Amino acid sequence: MADLNLIQGDITQFKGDAIVNAANTGLVGGGGVDGAIHRAAGPELDIACRKLHGCPTGEAKVTPGFNLPVKIIIHTAGPIWRDGSFEEPKLLRNCYENSLKRAVENHCQTVAFPSISTGIYGYPLDKACKIGVSTIRNFEAALQVTMVAFDEGTYRAFEKAMLA
Ligand code: ADP
Repeated sequence: MADLNLIQGDITQFKGDAIVNAANTGLVGGGGVDGAIHRAAGPELDIACRKLHGCPTGEAKVTPGFNLPVKIIIHTAGPIWRDGSFEEPKLLRNCYENSLKRAVENHCQTVAFPSISTGIYGYPLDKACKIGVSTIRNFEAALQVTMVAFDEGTYRAFEKAMLA
């Protein structure tokens, strides 16, 4: 079982083996956490992402961390919320699970996640938190996972899901 803890802050400040980026399927710089990660990692990140030729929804791909204090960045494309009947829960679970697999394959012990899909992609926060927490906790690996909530509402929602 992976170990899970929660902090509020900016994921670009996380010092450890890996951070996860809530990217888009094109792996071309977007807004939100993706924009913040690209700004902090530097322009080499965009060049590396373009060489990956995109990332299907629910999958996860790896680049170096460049100027960030992590070895690797794991880019995953979250589902865009429509009404919940377009496999959004399964796709979000895949994002967490595939990101954790990439972390293990790359010999990471510490990895930080943002709240995937709950920003621009509109996934209802409480539903997304439950999926994130259960997928991380049920993942069989000796990993230390930190959820980095950017705002207080996200922090509270993850806290609730972790206590449930
Ligand atoms: P998505 O398109 O997957 O919804 P967003 O980047 O719009 O991705 O939002 C995902 C979450 O990341 C939101 O909770 C947003 O507030 C948060 N976020 C934005 N910037 C940062 C950051 N620097 N560190 C951590 N989380 C961030």
